[in-house]
Amino acid sequence: MPFHIAIDGPVAAGKGTVARLVAEKLDFNYIDTGAMYRLVAYIAKKNHLKFTDAKALLPLVKKADMDIKNPTPEEKDGRLATIILDGKDLSWAIRTQAMSSGASQVAQLAEIRHVLVEKQQEIAKGKDVVMEGRDITYRVLPQANLKIFLTASDIVRAKRRHQQLLSKGEDADFEDVYKALIERDRRDMERSVDPLQIVDDAWVIDTSDLSIEKVVAAVTSKVEVMRGK
Ligand code: C5P
Repeated sequence: MPFHIAIDGPVAAGKGTVARLVAEKLDFNYIDTGAMYRLVAYIAKKNHLKFTDAKALLPLVKKADMDIKNPTPEEKDGRLATIILDGKDLSWAIRTQAMSSGASQVAQLAEIRHVLVEKQQEIAKGKDVVMEGRDITYRVLPQANLKIFLTASDIVRAKRRHQQLLSKGEDADFEDVYKALIERDRRDMERSVDPLQIVDDAWVIDTSDLSIEKVVAAVTSKVEVMRGK
């Protein structure tokens, strides 16, 4: 039986890093679903469409070939996953502030969410996965073996995101990063379709004062106990 770990949480709570490391330790596939919303934003931009134009975007998203892979040794340049759209490696192109904002706007569109949720369920079928996003614990993998809600204080998350952008050479002002993060969280929590929420059976982990290593160790040992190892 495949083992599914579902992780949800707000912007920059550490979901990607934790999911990647847990996947490496357990030899699972790491699936970054936010990257798929970012790819939709990229498709919109490339086709000069508004992020709100569901009608024009839908056929393009349906036929888009999205592939999320664990990075090969040659691809280990700090990326958490390799993200391919129609054969093109866009792992870094989708990580800008503009694509973050675009992703959170296309994520409001019910029709787009529907198509991406189906693609994500297909990806997880029959495989051991650590999948992270905003609706994984209750929409994409409601039967997941382990459900986690990862969070941290606003300031800690904004500091982390600011550092990430600076380390990639993006010219980012802390105030702007903080405001963009609060705005993205607001959109994710207030949207009418599948808003970010904490399910009753989720294990809530606040990473504000915890090292990544501690969180990863706690999650992996819990999975090992659950699998009887
Ligand atoms: O996780 P990441 O910041 O890359 O996600 C980008 C955006 O995609 C989020 O701000 C959110 O609006 C959207 N998203 C979503 N559902 C998911 C994953 C991401 O709505 N499962």
